[in-house]
Amino acid sequence: AVASIHAAREELLETLDRSVNYDYLTGTLARSAFMVRGQQLCEMLQPSGSMVVLVMDIDQFKNVNDSYGHAAGDLVLIAFAEEVSRTLRPGDLFGRLGGEEFAVILPDISDAEALALAERVRERIANMGIFLDGEQTIFVTVSIGMVRLRCRARSVVDRALAAADQALYAAKAAGRNHVVTVNPV
Ligand code: GH3
Ligand code: MG
Ligand code: MG
Repeated sequence: AVASIHAAREELLETLDRSVNYDYLTGTLARSAFMVRGQQLCEMLQPSGSMVVLVMDIDQFKNVNDSYGHAAGDLVLIAFAEEVSRTLRPGDLFGRLGGEEFAVILPDISDAEALALAERVRERIANMGIFLDGEQTIFVTVSIGMVRLRCRARSVVDRALAAADQALYAAKAAGRNHVVTVNPV
């Protein structure tokens, strides 16, 4: 009986950990856990390391909900997260910031590699069809903002996200389905 109480308690703790740290819909990191882990990574990379932060926002996502319904929108979010996950390397962080906005942290990566990865994500999403009841197929695109965060004593992931957000805004203004990079912070 003691063993089974112990097992039940462990299971409950695991469930709690999952629901706090992971997004229920997509299985990506929840915003708070993403920020905490990103910050820890940056502190480990001090004093001379850096990492690249990507902010990704699905284009015209409101249209998907309006045209196909909220449940179809949820399927798109799940498929989007799976496709991005497949493109990432072990050790990269992937979180949902909210709604149809996601972020990625890439430690130990060159500018060229980071840009190639972001472009690969953008292309794979544009080519991914989400099948609905065997009849309709939904296609979406994604805009991506990219910035390098230099990990110094007082570096904070918040600042990189704000800068990546500026880049994302420029990607939207450039016509969406674009990757835009801004100067390192
Ligand atoms: P833009 O290209 O400028 O990003 O346009 P957009 O339509 O993607 O942006 P907007 O912010 O106008 O719309 C985002 C939509 O995302 C509105 C909201 O209803 C929807 N959304 C947010 N969270 C969820 C969710 O969990 N599931 C579904 N299905 N929709 C969601
Ligand atoms: Mg959007
Ligand atoms: Mg948005």
